[in-house]
Amino acid sequence: MGCNHESCGDAEKVWLPHTYRGCECGLKPHPYCTKCGEVRNLSSEKPRNIGYYINAAAALSREVKIAQVQMRLLFKEMEQAGLDDAYGMDREQQEKLFIEILKRALNVSENSIRGVL
Ligand SMILES: [Zn+2]
Repeated sequence: MGCNHESCGDAEKVWLPHTYRGCECGLKPHPYCTKCGEVRNLSSEKPRNIGYYINAAAALSREVKIAQVQMRLLFKEMEQAGLDDAYGMDREQQEKLFIEILKRALNVSENSIRGVL
């Protein structure tokens, strides 16, 4: 089970680079979790629910053969990698992670994975 994140107060925020669509655009105060230390993602690209990525993997399995067992392992790996941790992930990080996991497990190109996102 992951941390259920509790943000620090306004006074304790840390100044970190803020990114928008992969570009850095200056510093912005970021709250962080007082329990695990993870910094909250403030990107305007809101992270997606893990269900979205599960559906995307299912869509991919119509093009590439993915066994049920393998699919379950993929979901587990996504969870373990923190793909569903909306506190610290932005959409771009999620997509990167998703592509990494699928590429490692299946013999598919990045392009076909991006095609289902
Ligand atoms: Zn936390």
